[in-house]
Amino acid sequence: MQTLLVSGGAGFIGANFVLKAVADGLRVVNLDKLTYAGNLDTLTSLHGNANHHFVQGDIGDRALVGQLLAQFKPDAIVNFAAESHVDRSIDGPAAFVHTNVVGTLALLECARDYWKALPEAAGAAFRFLHVSTDEVYGSLGANGRFTETTPYAPNSPYSASKAASDHLVRAFHHTYGLPTLTTNCSNNYGPCQFPEKLIPLVIQKALAASPLPVYGDGLNVRDWLFVGDHCAAIRRVLQAGTVGDTYNVGGNAERTNIEVVKAICALLDDRHPLDGGRKHQTLITFVKDRPGHDRRYAIDAGKLQRELGWQPSLTFETGIAQTVDWYLSNQPWVQRVLDGSYRMERLGV
Ligand code: NAD
Repeated sequence: MQTLLVSGGAGFIGANFVLKAVADGLRVVNLDKLTYAGNLDTLTSLHGNANHHFVQGDIGDRALVGQLLAQFKPDAIVNFAAESHVDRSIDGPAAFVHTNVVGTLALLECARDYWKALPEAAGAAFRFLHVSTDEVYGSLGANGRFTETTPYAPNSPYSASKAASDHLVRAFHHTYGLPTLTTNCSNNYGPCQFPEKLIPLVIQKALAASPLPVYGDGLNVRDWLFVGDHCAAIRRVLQAGTVGDTYNVGGNAERTNIEVVKAICALLDDRHPLDGGRKHQTLITFVKDRPGHDRRYAIDAGKLQRELGWQPSLTFETGIAQTVDWYLSNQPWVQRVLDGSYRMERLGV
């Protein structure tokens, strides 16, 4: 049986990844600091499952990481742990450097020392997969898409910290030979996303009949990918990716923010009508733009498709409907994760 050390596995993408990996028969050691963004509620279905070992801790804690590697002898490390919200990085960049850069460096050093001591066959099979973002490439104009060779040009403290971590991963491969893989993915959405991000925030505000905040003119473009498809891409890269390579992951689903918000409104008009038949779209309120807001991201995931045969399984329309339905059916989860430290207020102005 394969054993994975997954960091950040109580967050949005990490938890979706862990749930599927354990369901598929893998053993997962889940190391998560449980910041505001980490929620064990997402993992309740794994209670008592012998193939899931949850450990609360920091990727920057070398003693703890070293002990977990020695104890569980994983075949791979998958690094999701990060501070992940751009608006928070505007208000407080230091935490982003602390976890995303310094923490990733500590994890890499522990991984290198562990990997070097493995027997030859286990060492050859070992992988360190770093989960990153398309935001490292900066902003696009009206045309073009990011490929794996697009130069890095991060514009926010968040993307700058992720770019730095990507460079460290690259350097650990080139300098020490650590068998690394990096994935750079577009915007994810789906079940269990913390309601500070656009899609769950808009769903929650709409359910409360509150104004739906849209930054600037609403015409910023993101390429949206359903979280389950991102997790499948990571599994595929782990299985068959070329050591040292990076892979772009995207949904081929570019939408302006206003299109995304209107799609959610239309779904809720059917599923959760407002009083008096009022349309949810009337709740849309344009607010001051995010400072330095990147205009457009678009991913060319052709390498992943050509070389490893991965492609998204859901269209945006199917994925967004499933997501709205998940939030409608899981309001107790939302109420529990909104534990008082975050009340869906505006950050990063
Ligand atoms: P998230 O904020 O929902 O979850 C992050 C998790 O990491 C949380 O459970 C948190 O408790 C944990 N964590 C934070 N600091 C830690 C530390 N020092 N040690 C251990 N655990 C720590 O984030 P997410 O949206 O699930 O993103 C996961 C990864 O995927 C991140 O690396 C992010 O940069 C990347 N990514 C996200 C998206 C997206 O659209 N959400 C897109 C591309 C890439």
